[in-house]
Amino acid sequence: AKHAGRNTHFFFNESMQVEAQHHLLVNADLLRGLAADEFELYYQPILNIKTRQVDKCEALIRWNHPEKGLVMPDFFIPVAERTGSIVGLGNWVLQQACKDMRVFLEAGLDIKISVNRSASEFYSIKAYETWKNIFKDNEVDSHRFIFEITESLFMGRHAAHIDVISALHEIGVQFAIDDFGTGYSAINYLRNYPVDYLKIDKSFVQDLLTSKQDRMLVEVIIKMGQVLDIVVIAEGVEELGQLDLLQQFDCDYIQGYWLSRPQPIMQIIDRCLEPINQ
Ligand code: C2E
Ligand code: CA
Ligand code: CA
Ligand code: CA
Repeated sequence: AKHAGRNTHFFFNESMQVEAQHHLLVNADLLRGLAADEFELYYQPILNIKTRQVDKCEALIRWNHPEKGLVMPDFFIPVAERTGSIVGLGNWVLQQACKDMRVFLEAGLDIKISVNRSASEFYSIKAYETWKNIFKDNEVDSHRFIFEITESLFMGRHAAHIDVISALHEIGVQFAIDDFGTGYSAINYLRNYPVDYLKIDKSFVQDLLTSKQDRMLVEVIIKMGQVLDIVVIAEGVEELGQLDLLQQFDCDYIQGYWLSRPQPIMQIIDRCLEPINQ
């Protein structure tokens, strides 16, 4: 604050500096890890409730760190977003997802891969060319990919966003709004952007059985999806009771520990090839 005393001011700066230094260290290690091929994509199946088939999987990044062991994305994705390394990391993710797509197809699994994208990856129109070339070089069909973005992307005033999104949509890439309901209350963007899926945030699903309010919100989101012709995916389904309710509400897809945790590709392939008999 403007009128803060000298000490407060100094202390504030110091903690910011410590944070910045931490970011720089993590970032340097991340770039080293990227060069050393330490990252891996895990996959979590997304179940079509109506057909009872897994026809999509979400790719979730993991870091097999030589000293720290398995490092989760919440540790390094925010850093990569702040430093700009997310662009290179995001390209690696798409490249790896393309290679994995070929493995899924060869195993006889007819699926789409849903990849997470950060808003800052859309800042330049070059993103479209880069990603289009990644699909082309790996000889995979861009129709097999869904990009998960968050509502915050629509709040920035970057003109490139719109162009990148519509150019990708034109070559068959679908778009999902991740963590739906947690960002901004404005839903106007749903009318103006090619949104194919809404992913109901797991915080709503978690209290589905205990909170009447969350239950109503989930029901309304599902209804809205039906009216707008947007497919609805409920995240974070951990119990059968939650699935039962979502089914009653006519939800399209579920994802969560109840079905499977995110796992390395070979485990997921084995798991998906087993029939689901619940
Ligand atoms: P997200 O996109 O919302 O992904 C869902 C997170 O919920 C994942 O955490 C997943 O493991 C976890 N999850 C799945 N089912 C359940 C459940 O039933 N219960 C609970 N409690 N959690 C569940 P994860 O893998 O740690 O990823 C965290 C976040 O990191 C992701 O949240 C996403 O925002 C980001 N992220 C992951 N991979 C990438 C990536 O390749 N690129 C970018 N930009 N971000 C990524
Ligand atoms: Ca996601
Ligand atoms: Ca999510
Ligand atoms: Ca998230």
